[in-house]
Amino acid sequence: MIDCIFCKIISGEIPSQKIYEDDYVYAFNDINPTAPVHFLLIPKVHIDSVNELDDTNIHYVSKVFMAIAEITKKLGIADDGYRVVNNCNDDGGQTVHHIHFHIIGGKALGWPPYVERT
Ligand code: AMP
Ligand code: ZN
Repeated sequence: MIDCIFCKIISGEIPSQKIYEDDYVYAFNDINPTAPVHFLLIPKVHIDSVNELDDTNIHYVSKVFMAIAEITKKLGIADDGYRVVNNCNDDGGQTVHHIHFHIIGGKALGWPPYVERT
């Protein structure tokens, strides 16, 4: 059994502010929001990162993006827009190694989004 904080959120072992769930994906508010809207979309199976995507699990990513389209419409931010972010491994700044997509919005966001790590 993988000791994974996001798997524990899916199972309910760790509490979360759930905003959406279906057979494939789970969405919950980020505990440390960086914008008025900041939630995370995760597949309900453990996949470490984008690097582990293949023909057997790529359909979870489609389900993630379908859920993003539905949730952002419901939250009323779809027309104004938002950003979807995936951080991969160390240089990408990934801290939780269960693939996840940040949905950030509710304000006009700057570009480029990154700052160099010191
Ligand atoms: P990343 O740096 O891309 O791996 O993002 C991990 C995200 O998970 C961060 O934005 C954290 O604030 C968020 N996070 C970590 N633990 C929790 C938790 N228990 N509930 C909600 N969000 C969390
Ligand atoms: Zn996991």
